[in-house]
Amino acid sequence: MSTPQDILQSVFGYESFRAPQGEIIQTVIDGGDALVLMPTGGGKSLCYQIPALVRPGCGVVISPLIALMQDQVSALRQLGVRASFLNSTLDAATTREVEEQLQAGQLDLLYIAPERLTQERCLNLLERASISLFAIDEAHCVSQWGHDFRADYLQLSLLHQRFPDIPRIALTATADARTRQEITDRLDLGDAQKFTAGFDRPNIRYRIALKHNPRQQLLAFLRQEHPGDAGIVYCMSRNKTEEVSHWLGQQGIDALPYHAGLPAATRASHQARFLREEGIIIVATIAFGMGIDKPDVRFVAHLDMPKTVESYYQETGRAGRDGQAADAWMIYGLQDVIKLRQMMASSAGSEEHKRAEQHRLNAMLGLCEITSCRRQALLNYFDEALPEPCGNCDTCLEPVNTWDGTEAARMALSAVYRTGQRFGVNHLIEVLRGSDNDKIHQFDHHLLPTYGIGKQLDNNQWRSVFRQLVARAYLSVDLERFGALRLEEKCRGLLRGEDDIQLRRDPVKTRSGKQQTRTPLAADIDVALWEALRDCRRQLAEEQGVPPYVIFHDRTLQEMCTSLPRDPAQLGSITGVGERKLDKYGAQFLQVIREHAGVAQ
Ligand code: ADP
Ligand code: ZN
Repeated sequence: MSTPQDILQSVFGYESFRAPQGEIIQTVIDGGDALVLMPTGGGKSLCYQIPALVRPGCGVVISPLIALMQDQVSALRQLGVRASFLNSTLDAATTREVEEQLQAGQLDLLYIAPERLTQERCLNLLERASISLFAIDEAHCVSQWGHDFRADYLQLSLLHQRFPDIPRIALTATADARTRQEITDRLDLGDAQKFTAGFDRPNIRYRIALKHNPRQQLLAFLRQEHPGDAGIVYCMSRNKTEEVSHWLGQQGIDALPYHAGLPAATRASHQARFLREEGIIIVATIAFGMGIDKPDVRFVAHLDMPKTVESYYQETGRAGRDGQAADAWMIYGLQDVIKLRQMMASSAGSEEHKRAEQHRLNAMLGLCEITSCRRQALLNYFDEALPEPCGNCDTCLEPVNTWDGTEAARMALSAVYRTGQRFGVNHLIEVLRGSDNDKIHQFDHHLLPTYGIGKQLDNNQWRSVFRQLVARAYLSVDLERFGALRLEEKCRGLLRGEDDIQLRRDPVKTRSGKQQTRTPLAADIDVALWEALRDCRRQLAEEQGVPPYVIFHDRTLQEMCTSLPRDPAQLGSITGVGERKLDKYGAQFLQVIREHAGVAQ
């Protein structure tokens, strides 16, 4: 019988296991249950695929992502694994065929949608077959609190009752303790071994910039840093996703909208194009993304701030699953802070619930305003310590200055107080800067002691001060009066002269040219060869109707460029080239490399 290590090399073409993979795999092979918490891109699939290949019988994978089953199965078949799926997209004849293959012991892996699995007919079928394990993917779907809740998942505890001797492995990238507990309880995994991989995604570069001209900022980011790359742009509203994708289209960029309000067929076709073609950008609400296991998403851009650090982590986590450099880029500004604060205050729910929401929003705002390493703060939020600053986030790469904002903050707070806590930021700045306009005179604000005391800061600087005061909850936003700012308890110390405050010095706007442009390719890569290899991959993918990454990942092609293999043995030692793919595609890729070498000489 093959060992897990043999299978890793011969089938998947990988050298060694990543941290907890080996242990998890051994646990399941030995017949034990496992609960696996691993970040996106951590390598969860191997944790059930390899045990399914080692243990006798067929591994059953329960996944809510019907739209992706076809691609998952294609990817496995490329490796020579006997995989199939059962869901509502199959016609009766194909369904019967798959069922017969299962009975006859001709399958290594079978993907099943949860609503199908829990039908009596399907359970009977499984009872008659030889099953090696049950893998419950996206296990956080049992959580009634998360937005991925699937009622069918609640019934999956019946697996334990009906198949007590078959090992179960539940997997998720969703992190918080409550969800973890729910998974354990609802899936009856009390005795399962728990495995947690760290949350860090070192290849993702976190960047959060100030919003001043969102569309132009996005366009500059796409053009300068990600020409031709696939990525996701998140927006808060459905309308906005359509407007932005339309506008990007006019700028000559391949962008498609995605939100829950689009017809199902449109959504499916946009998702399919994103997965199958190269360089498509999806402009989406949070309805897009769960389980999208496209490995080569090179960036995730946020035009609006997510409400929690958990969401930010989940959404940005869709970038760079293949481990290659990727960007998590976000812009935010005063209006976002005000809008989100208002939304929270007006949301339905108990006071306790609102407080919890405010608390989570504060953590997200804290991440935006922080002047030290973003990755340290992010990991710290998940109780994970990173001893040194990461060197791969904006605050590490371009350290942010702070300034003593105590005096300015006092002026701002006093302007709020003197005007009766009834005005929004724009008017408050007019007062501070001593503007002469009708509204000022209408309310006699030119007579206030705060009138004109803040001329030394310009409009943007004052906005920055107010933004930080709102973000740090010195000021709240009044619901009754649109955008009016009010003092919070926290101000007292500052106003009395007991506390002081350090503020972030926002970088000046015109810095787009200064960003280091990151090329996805190492400097020593020959671009012509790289393109030739991609062409070869694209052609093979089209012939078979599969996404290009199913043939080979970018990383594999890049290694071909650097190591220039001359024969099958050399090619076979490259990451991602297993025996089956070497057989199937080796000759063609070697030919491309050989031709290229000929030209280069
Ligand atoms: P997850 O489901 O946790 O998001 P995947 O299972 O899709 O992650 O794996 C992410 C990527 O990492 C895939 O491209 C996979 O082939 C690759 N990968 C997984 N394990 C290894 C390993 N041990 N060595 C090299 N690459 C790996
Ligand atoms: Zn950092």
